[in-house]
Amino acid sequence: MPSLHDRTRLSAESIFSRMSRLAAQHGAVNLGQGFPSTPPPDFLLDAARRAVGTVDQYSPPIGLPALREAVAHDLGAEASQVVITCGATEAMFALAQTLYGPGDELIAFEPVFDIYRPQTVMVGATFVGVPLTLSAAGWQLDIDALRRAVTPRTRALIVNSPFNPTGSVLSLTELQEIANLARQHDFWLISDEVYDELYYAERPVSLRTLAPERTFTVGSAGKRLDATGWRIGWILTPQGVAPEVAGLHQWTTFCAPAPLQAAVAEALGTARTSGFYEALRSSYRARMETLAAGLRDLGAEVFTPQGTYFLTARLTGVNAERLVTEGGVAVIPLDAFYRTHAAPPEMLRLAFCKSQLEIEEALRRLGRFLGS
Ligand SMILES: *Cc1c(COP(=O)(O)O)cnc(C)c1O
Repeated sequence: MPSLHDRTRLSAESIFSRMSRLAAQHGAVNLGQGFPSTPPPDFLLDAARRAVGTVDQYSPPIGLPALREAVAHDLGAEASQVVITCGATEAMFALAQTLYGPGDELIAFEPVFDIYRPQTVMVGATFVGVPLTLSAAGWQLDIDALRRAVTPRTRALIVNSPFNPTGSVLSLTELQEIANLARQHDFWLISDEVYDELYYAERPVSLRTLAPERTFTVGSAGKRLDATGWRIGWILTPQGVAPEVAGLHQWTTFCAPAPLQAAVAEALGTARTSGFYEALRSSYRARMETLAAGLRDLGAEVFTPQGTYFLTARLTGVNAERLVTEGGVAVIPLDAFYRTHAAPPEMLRLAFCKSQLEIEEALRRLGRFLGS
């Protein structure tokens, strides 16, 4: 039998799948993988029921016109700039295909969301990690470290704000420094904004407002509408390059599922006008506060998130493997998000996109585990 390609070294099970599998095996409360345990809104499900049986054939690779319009409306841009993809995951891959390849370097911050590095390696480029700094004040950009990481081979920088796994949001000053650096060294910016509607202070500034000519903004219906299995995402491109991005995406998935595109188009309109996002934020905020307060009571140092449905916390003496198998709670050790630097010690990422009851049960179990 011929051998598989070397690239299959990237095929190992992710820490998220592993923790979810262990959680299921051991009956653990799953604060590991970031998927909501509460159902999506009825207006999304109803729209899908109407679309299946009506919109059943291929859409154009670039996406259904109604969805491109809806995304453009939400992001204050033109529909001609929008490409619809199979989730933000495929959006990021389409951008990797479009923007860099062998000999090029891609920079991202660590702790890093897990898909960025394998996708970089899959297109033959080099991944360069730049660590964020962590102090009592929280997670911060180290602009000097970023400056040092830039070389003549740098082709793109991925920015994720609100940031998974830290829950942090980049300040206007930090974003301005990033935009200036990109202009000075002429590289692209990829702004992963799948949590654009999930923030707990003022609305995060989008990098594209500071560098519209070089920023690709990535979004996800799954994250906005509590439906991560739907696999509808989008890219807002700089003016004029959407056809090229869509032209490459046509060779991988051709188009995202057409009936779900139609349903999301309708649901984005409903979400925008019905106060859905405000309700979503206050619901997540309540769960975040329950989790943060409970963890502090157990002696954890909690870094309060400004966005996303994750928080990071330092909890001394907790081994994530033992916690899921013996303590009945799944979490993600933060070192799983480091590729080229060392993680700060004893840090965990906990997801609070779970019900209040699950969060309270997880806290009780964590208390027992720490006491035992
Ligand atoms: C979940 C997530 C994605 C992927 O989004 P999908 O639409 O589910 O593919 C991308 N980036 C970040 C930071 C995420 O948390």
